[in-house]
Amino acid sequence: MTNKKIRTRIAPSPTGFVHIGNLRTALYNYLFTKQQGGDFVLRIEDTDQSRKIEGAMEKIFEVLEWSGLSWNEGPLKGGEYGPYIQSQRLDLYKKYARQLVDSGHAYYCFCTPKDLEQMREEQTKNHQAPHYAGPCREADIARAAEKIKTGSPFVIRLKVPKNELVTFDDIVYGKISFNSKEIDDQVLLKSDGFPTYHLAVVVDDHLMKMTHIMRGEDWLPSTPKHILLYEAFGWEKPVYCHLPNILGEDKKKLSKRTAAVSVEDFKKAGYLPAALINYLALLGWNPGTEEELFLIDELIKKFDLKKIHKAGAIFDLKKLDNINGQYIRNLQTNKLVELCLPYLKDEYGDKLNVYSEEYINKVIKLEQERLKKLSDIAENARLFFSSDLKYDSQVLVWKKSNQAGAKKVLDLIFSFLKNINEWNKENLEAKTMAFIGEQNLTNGETLWPLRVALSGQQNSPGPFEIADVLGQEQSLHRIAEALKKLE
Ligand code: GLU
Repeated sequence: MTNKKIRTRIAPSPTGFVHIGNLRTALYNYLFTKQQGGDFVLRIEDTDQSRKIEGAMEKIFEVLEWSGLSWNEGPLKGGEYGPYIQSQRLDLYKKYARQLVDSGHAYYCFCTPKDLEQMREEQTKNHQAPHYAGPCREADIARAAEKIKTGSPFVIRLKVPKNELVTFDDIVYGKISFNSKEIDDQVLLKSDGFPTYHLAVVVDDHLMKMTHIMRGEDWLPSTPKHILLYEAFGWEKPVYCHLPNILGEDKKKLSKRTAAVSVEDFKKAGYLPAALINYLALLGWNPGTEEELFLIDELIKKFDLKKIHKAGAIFDLKKLDNINGQYIRNLQTNKLVELCLPYLKDEYGDKLNVYSEEYINKVIKLEQERLKKLSDIAENARLFFSSDLKYDSQVLVWKKSNQAGAKKVLDLIFSFLKNINEWNKENLEAKTMAFIGEQNLTNGETLWPLRVALSGQQNSPGPFEIADVLGQEQSLHRIAEALKKLE
């Protein structure tokens, strides 16, 4: 490795949403770079105009900013090696493509789509992999220049050497070799004057002085093409580190057909950025301890490129939920309220206006324990924002009791709670537990129907916590409603 300042980049294409795998790639680049005191660059690769989606670039900025992985150089920030959006660098690619033609490493190709189609058909018939086998590779350069002058459309192709071994070292996968005969004469510059990914990525990584290229394993087959380009230009190659795919439970590459993959969707569901980052860091790497919770600064300290696993990592939503839940439980109340309120407003709209701020805050605080993600608050809090609970009367009956038993207990508890003066969780709990003792009741036969009467749910927070939030009047009202159901 060199002593140069470490420089890495992520180079997303604005072709849609940001995939969770791209965020992990960004994270690994970020952790390594920060640990080494280097520069982390964002570059937008938008040279495939047909796949470009309006607004996708802004989404990339938004997602990265939200996640906290801020880039040192790139769009919105500037830097010494800009512009950082490839469509603003077209002249550079043309210049370098021509340079390769001049040095004999590339050639002008005038074959039409129809010619190429015929070539492909023939090759398929002969059981050959499709590749360029036309006359332009060996054509006279002066004649090609003439044709260009007369306005013939052309592309520039890389003249891939025949039968050479292309080898490189990858930090994760080790030594990798390809025979150049498996590599087609890649188009470098398209007829519309736009570069292909291969040309643009190499030119930019070189000009932007990248020392390490960390990207998804999907790009591994492209790397020998890039190596050939570095060699053709006579440029120093960066270090490569390909990151194994993230897999779904079916062990196939995580895809939107079977799972949530868009970072935006995780954000909307109420995953906290620090929790998502924490989880993603552990997806394909671990610090070798049982510990699970790491803030970004600790991750920067502990991250080790050499410990990245070779095998694909299975995305485990339960583990993410678990980590996110822990981050939610660590939130200060005012932050928790601020984050949960939009979900409640979304769900309950104007209905929320009849409740006091204090009431709403208490509900949120109470639910903090049970939230796996912030959006859960909408469903979990339903019992506090409903005037009429809908549930089956059978739910009121504890497993070791019966309908008459439930009714008897609720009658008793109704009269008892009516006379409580100091309505708060501690007092309610102390007094009710004493009452249960005095009456020779059991906890189960009393607290079960009471909790269901207050919540209308099989699973909910405990009865005293709910009663505390609901207040005396509403609690008694709900017990009375339950009694009606049991008649
Ligand atoms: N533009 C490529 C992408 O969308 C970048 C691949 C690379 O990092 O070289 O992921």
